[in-house]
Amino acid sequence: MKNDCVFCEQALFEDRLIFENERFNIVASLGQITDGGYLLIFPKRHVSCIGEMKVPELEEMERLKDVAFSRLAAGGYGESVSLFEHGIVGQTINHAHLHLIPAVLGSLDDRLMDDFPGNLMMLSGALTDIREKYQVFKKPYLLWNPEKVYRTCWEPNAPKQYFRTVAAQLLKRPERADWKVMDRDIDRSLWEDTVARLSPYFSHPMVRAYEEFLYNLRNSRYSWKITEEGHLRTADNLGYDPIMAVCAFVKWKHCYPGAEMLYAREIGLPEELAIAIIKASDNSWNKEKAIQEIREDLFSTVGL
Ligand SMILES: [Zn+2]
Ligand SMILES: [Zn+2]
Repeated sequence: MKNDCVFCEQALFEDRLIFENERFNIVASLGQITDGGYLLIFPKRHVSCIGEMKVPELEEMERLKDVAFSRLAAGGYGESVSLFEHGIVGQTINHAHLHLIPAVLGSLDDRLMDDFPGNLMMLSGALTDIREKYQVFKKPYLLWNPEKVYRTCWEPNAPKQYFRTVAAQLLKRPERADWKVMDRDIDRSLWEDTVARLSPYFSHPMVRAYEEFLYNLRNSRYSWKITEEGHLRTADNLGYDPIMAVCAFVKWKHCYPGAEMLYAREIGLPEELAIAIIKASDNSWNKEKAIQEIREDLFSTVGL
């Protein structure tokens, strides 16, 4: 095993793998504290914590985290997700990873304040801010996000699996706190179910193309134009065909009926545009026809 690290050895988590790309894995965690839906996101590159990751890696991790949130909702695990990292403190695996638990951990802030009263606590808007602080401090930290912001607690004297223990207590499942001793059969059935339920939402290549399209669309504030070939392009010219990406949306709708509006809302697609796309796809799936209809509807909807 490379570096003796289980996250560097895919064979050791292959059964639990839900999504992978060039740089990241998303797996169902061992030790499902909730009844399924508990995920880990980690980079393929061996690195000890988020503070040591590179800026583009963190930006991608942030995006994947948003994707995972929407997939958890689409997969029926609810719309509330709590996130944390044992930044070198309390890690049992010495390889950066974010925990995503589909549950509200309401009094987590109070609990951290009580447990580490004299420690430096900070608020950050993005993972890259935490990296920036870490690069200055070079100290261990605990990271969690109760809302839209991230919180960090620096140099806490926390035991291993600290957040897991607290989460298991808050969710009244103390027997699931330690992933190493949790009932193996129960755990296996929960993570197998998680993989089965969520994989389809991650794996379809067109879904992923669409994902990328929307991400870029959102970040370019819906500023679109038509190219000479008649393709719709965002103003910053991202270099792919959004019509195909929109088709992925339609395809996805046909694969997983009912998820599309939830998803449209999640990623901030204007409602009238989402409805136009759905309306255009109400016939049974026919790619050529759908492309034509979507093109017309999309263009008239956004007034191009
Ligand atoms: Zn590793
Ligand atoms: Zn951990």
